Amino acid sequence: MPSLFETMATLGSTDPVIVSAALTGSWPTKAQNPAVPITEPEIAGAALACAAAGAAIVHVHVRDDDGVVTCDPARYARVRALIEAAGSDVIVNMSTGGGAGRTGDAERMAPIDLAPEIASFDCGSLNFGTGVFVNSPAFLDVLAARMTERGVRPEIECFEPGHVWNALRLIEAGALTPPFWFQFVLGVRGGAPPTLQQLVQLVALLPPGSRWSACGIGRAQLPLGVAAMTIGGHARTGLEDNLYYRKGELAESNAQLVARLVRIAGELGRPVATPVDARRLLGLAPRPASATAPTGQAGQAP
Ligand code: ZN
Repeated sequence: MPSLFETMATLGSTDPVIVSAALTGSWPTKAQNPAVPITEPEIAGAALACAAAGAAIVHVHVRDDDGVVTCDPARYARVRALIEAAGSDVIVNMSTGGGAGRTGDAERMAPIDLAPEIASFDCGSLNFGTGVFVNSPAFLDVLAARMTERGVRPEIECFEPGHVWNALRLIEAGALTPPFWFQFVLGVRGGAPPTLQQLVQLVALLPPGSRWSACGIGRAQLPLGVAAMTIGGHARTGLEDNLYYRKGELAESNAQLVARLVRIAGELGRPVATPVDARRLLGLAPRPASATAPTGQAGQAP
């Protein structure tokens, strides 16, 4: 395992920080925090506010009319269309998680047909809260092939070290191709604990040149995000993972959480990636100039 200093040196600590905002998730409700965006206009509005606060990527889930998680591509398409209609070039990452056990495999893959720039790729199974989140080898093979076909960059979500090992097997088989973009989701009940030691061990498993981000669940969100930025990684925040701004105080919005990470990145001396920067870092095709002006600038503001 590399030392922390080696980790900093080899993983590009001078890169701009890509801040991802996980806006809604599958489970949070307005009863828990009224700021959780549920409808498509609310989700798009949250995405725009996060982009203005410095997020380069918005990680999107959608809900049905009862607020229950769904994989309905029409709803995903509406969210993206609303974001684009507002002139934003923020990168839209569509979830294929399907609520960690609430939806079938075929349904979960449906958003891939929209060819989002990024989609989540949950790289293994685990207990998830009181349920089980199944991502079978067969499902991962098919999902990887569909993403490749559609030109979608997988965000390889790893909840524990075995998931990184799964990814290495898929890489060796040619099912996942570089550049690799990993998201470590730490602190799920059933996954790896949200500790710095765990994070460093996960990073040490990655193929050279990989880019990675971390998100901690609940109260681990802020310390893990700061740790990730400190050792050269990128960070995810948002109400999907954590409903609070600090102990006993609900977050006012997704954008409030983004703004805090952006402030801290500034203090750490790392610039914050605009969507243009993030596309370059992740090997995504640049967007046409007409679609890149408004939030490309806003992302640098704070
Ligand atoms: Zn998600």
